[in-house]
Amino acid sequence: MSDIIKDTVDRLLDRVNAISESGPGFTRPSYSPLESQAHRVIEDEANALGLTVTRDAALNLFARLPGRDRNAPAIHVGSHLDTVAMGGAYDGQAGVAGAMALAAAFVESGEPPPVDLVVTVTRAEESVWFPVSYVGSRAALGRLTPAELQATRSDTGRTLQDHILSEGGRPDDILTDTPLAPARFIELHIEQGDVLNNAGEPFAVVDGVRGGLRYRQARINGTWAHSGGQARSERSDAVFAMADLIVAMDRRWDEALHAGHDLAVTFGRVDAATSEHAFAKVPGRVDFCVDLRSDDIAVLDRMDGVFLGESAAIEAARHVRFDLGLQSRSQPTKLSAALGDRIADAARALGHTPRRMLSGGGHDAAAFAQAGWDSVMVFLRNWNGSHNPDEGMDPADLVAAVDALHGAVRGMGRE
Ligand SMILES: [Zn+2]
Repeated sequence: MSDIIKDTVDRLLDRVNAISESGPGFTRPSYSPLESQAHRVIEDEANALGLTVTRDAALNLFARLPGRDRNAPAIHVGSHLDTVAMGGAYDGQAGVAGAMALAAAFVESGEPPPVDLVVTVTRAEESVWFPVSYVGSRAALGRLTPAELQATRSDTGRTLQDHILSEGGRPDDILTDTPLAPARFIELHIEQGDVLNNAGEPFAVVDGVRGGLRYRQARINGTWAHSGGQARSERSDAVFAMADLIVAMDRRWDEALHAGHDLAVTFGRVDAATSEHAFAKVPGRVDFCVDLRSDDIAVLDRMDGVFLGESAAIEAARHVRFDLGLQSRSQPTKLSAALGDRIADAARALGHTPRRMLSGGGHDAAAFAQAGWDSVMVFLRNWNGSHNPDEGMDPADLVAAVDALHGAVRGMGRE
């Protein structure tokens, strides 16, 4: 059984990763022709396995292997094939290759799954392109809004609706089509952290996905002045204000961790290097973004208050003005403990003892859980982080996880 899983994983990773803008790394923007081409690889492989391929109005791909009980809720297994710019070889791709390998294992064994197995390849999971979380999965679940269809892509400036149309989708129907009925969703994905690699463990079961609270387009406005001429007391220095904010939020983060809360604080962009900035000028402006993450919505709400309070204090002390722009959020999400237990049991039968952990990054599995599905993730050991060309993973770990999923899915019926 492992041979067909390994062959499928290796071949699919190769075929999908051959489709990319030029390097370094791999680039397939959301709703780009390259993402569509990667989806066609899955369609081609699914057809070869005898699966039935369909696409919805948002161009999510579903490849269905009939189960023994056609009327019971299906088991969807999958991930996404878009990437960030100059991303890695595994974020998304590993989960899709694993899902196809699982279907191939069932086909080869001659034993159908207990219920329909649906390889599910979502669109536009990476929210760097459109400022909208989980576009494809939320479209399939009837949760995308008309306003979100008007969001513009960061590189082209064209709307989501326009890009969906260009790739052959039906944006108007997304808002009116019947959403997928609640079923079960399993997503294999690289960890995007070093917990499993440091512990020497091949895979883990994920119990929950952290939520996020972001100010993506924030700015501190000060006053441009001569660096030699302007007295300290008269300055409105945006960079000193930025430094105060970062130090204050680092201290608050440390306090939250000591109080036992789950929290991550990141200033992913701090820009004091526009053409206006120069060594002889008191900086009149800093653009930045901030990303707060936690498994607890109360912690996010409290930290938002802390952030606003610190900003107000710095405005007064430094004579600057904060313009935070729009806030965006994703909700912290609990995943299915029951589905996780089944996978952990099947893994133990193969000699593994997967730990239970949280996901720091957002994933489609969260969108399915929020729509009432039994949804769970399996994390794969990886190294060199994620969203960069050096993202590392051992395909053997993916093979081991798919083997465990095969055991778990065989045991799932109508319950
Ligand atoms: Zn991903």
